[in-house]
Amino acid sequence: MSHRIIILPETLTNKIAAGEVVERPSSVIKELIENSLDAGATDISVEITDGGRRLIRLADNGHGMSREDALLSLERHATSKIRNEEDLDGILTLGFRGEALPSIASVSRFRLATREPGSLEGTEIMVEGGRVRDVKACGMAPGTVISVEQIFFNIPARLKFMKSAETEAGHVADLVGRMAVSRPAVAFSYRSDGRDILKVQRSDLQRRLSQVAGKNTSAELHQVCYDDNYVSVSGFVSGPSLVRSSLQGMYTYINGRYVRDKLVQHAVMQAYRGVIDRVRYPVVALFIQILPGDVDVNVHPTKHEVRFRRQSAVHDAIQAAVEGVLRGSPWLVNKTAEPLPSKIQTGEAYRERIAAAAQASLSMPRREEHGNSYTFPAAESNKAEAAMFLSQTGDELPTVSEPTTHFTAHNADSECAGYFSSLAIIGQFHSEYILCQSGSELMIIDQHAASERVLFQRLKQQFLAGKVESQRLLFPDTVELSFSEVAVASHFLTELAGIGFELEPFGGNTLMVAAVPRLVAEKNAISLLRDILADLVELGISAAFQDVLDELLSRIACHSVVRGAHPLEACQIGELLRSMDETDFSASCPHGRPVSHVIRLAELEKIFKRT
Ligand code: ADP
Ligand code: MG
Repeated sequence: MSHRIIILPETLTNKIAAGEVVERPSSVIKELIENSLDAGATDISVEITDGGRRLIRLADNGHGMSREDALLSLERHATSKIRNEEDLDGILTLGFRGEALPSIASVSRFRLATREPGSLEGTEIMVEGGRVRDVKACGMAPGTVISVEQIFFNIPARLKFMKSAETEAGHVADLVGRMAVSRPAVAFSYRSDGRDILKVQRSDLQRRLSQVAGKNTSAELHQVCYDDNYVSVSGFVSGPSLVRSSLQGMYTYINGRYVRDKLVQHAVMQAYRGVIDRVRYPVVALFIQILPGDVDVNVHPTKHEVRFRRQSAVHDAIQAAVEGVLRGSPWLVNKTAEPLPSKIQTGEAYRERIAAAAQASLSMPRREEHGNSYTFPAAESNKAEAAMFLSQTGDELPTVSEPTTHFTAHNADSECAGYFSSLAIIGQFHSEYILCQSGSELMIIDQHAASERVLFQRLKQQFLAGKVESQRLLFPDTVELSFSEVAVASHFLTELAGIGFELEPFGGNTLMVAAVPRLVAEKNAISLLRDILADLVELGISAAFQDVLDELLSRIACHSVVRGAHPLEACQIGELLRSMDETDFSASCPHGRPVSHVIRLAELEKIFKRT
């Protein structure tokens, strides 16, 4: 009887295991940083040369290892982090497999130097391709220093798969950034070919995230704090003015471990639906805490995906946590808000103040006096459009408060006025933007985006109340469509009627249009219908109409709003601001464009070099 089966020598099994754990320099550094964090380090520095090909070096100030432990740490399945099977259900450390060090040491020239704070000297171990070459005492500060030279020197096939030094160094930068965001209380530095790429001191999450995700973003971040007794979610999320064109700015962690999990990403993006554009991604740092037994991080040694026991509970919690913050549109909250003045003065004083403000700083639109009311120039021909643009509410006169250093206009019912209604209107710029003042902030509102948002919200309310208001056409129109468009229209006839389009199949690929949403009755409603049908075709008839509802309503809103320059009267501006207060997610139009932008006094002072 011959023996076919042998047990592989450890140097070989380590090399095989390395294939899983050690994919490229950044995966080595991931393992090393995780070990440093598990060792309680508060200062971690990473250095590479030639994209990590020549040298990877990591130094930490963690608890270090004794000589015996240092030698053991290089054995496969040697770990200080779990002891038995039960521990596997409650992993709170980043590592637990006991595979990283032996794997890395088996595919490189490896040096481990480590010292416990209580001991007088450190231990230095040299390993080459998995074989220990030397063990000796060394002088060093408490902590651990690991150098990995000539990675994959003994696996030429792997070496071939390494990308350019820049690419590898870029992966390391991403990795260090993710790790740095996960532990704001730990100082991190990363140098590549002698250049400082990242250097952050110990700080708090908001600062850390803005340091890693981009300069001066701190003010755009809003705190998340959620707990439903099963999942807790905390961290920061960005408002609509801080977005990225990729998932780069999304830092998500489960029980302190970075994940790039589809479910988590989906939940975050769902929350941002309608707040930012579909092809934009927010900047977030979210820490999701869940019972360790309810999440399996042991799916793959390097993959960032996890498995949840109760997927939808986790998804809904994350979405609710982020939505909770976004619903409050915190980016609109006036940080230097002053209490609203209680006394209301006459329009006389308002006019005086506006004039004074105009003289003092911004140029004003030409003023016209209409009896007792103050209006912005509006050409007669534009009035009908203006009426469509906003529903008018008589000649309500914005009034102003008792003397205060800032003038604050508000309306007669301002005791309970919302944020936008309480803004002091300065005027209109370029017939496209509304300028307002709030305390020491100058707010610029894109009137087109704002009305679009307001109309969208009205349409949605109408829809939820039964049906979007529609208008019967005097002469029903017919449209020629493609077969797939006819198919999708016939499939969704009732739903389309719900958003204001009453359609009847007319035989072949012709459709008869009997009624259209009232808002777009004066516009080219047919081209809008075509767009909507094209959208639906793209989705296919298996899609739930409800899922695309927002998109379709926002199309209608967008179509009905006047584009380009459009002079507005003061009362129209007032009305728009009031409607904005009634609008959810007021800072972003349905297409994700921002609605308003704030310039702080301090920023202006900087521009004019007053500080
Ligand atoms: P794991 O992290 O899964 O336990 P590793 O192979 O990464 O396995 O590390 C083996 C052991 O070596 C760890 O359990 C830990 O006790 C020790 N160790 C590794 N790196 C450090 C470090 N930087 N400081 C202190 N101890 C360390
Ligand atoms: Mg480890």
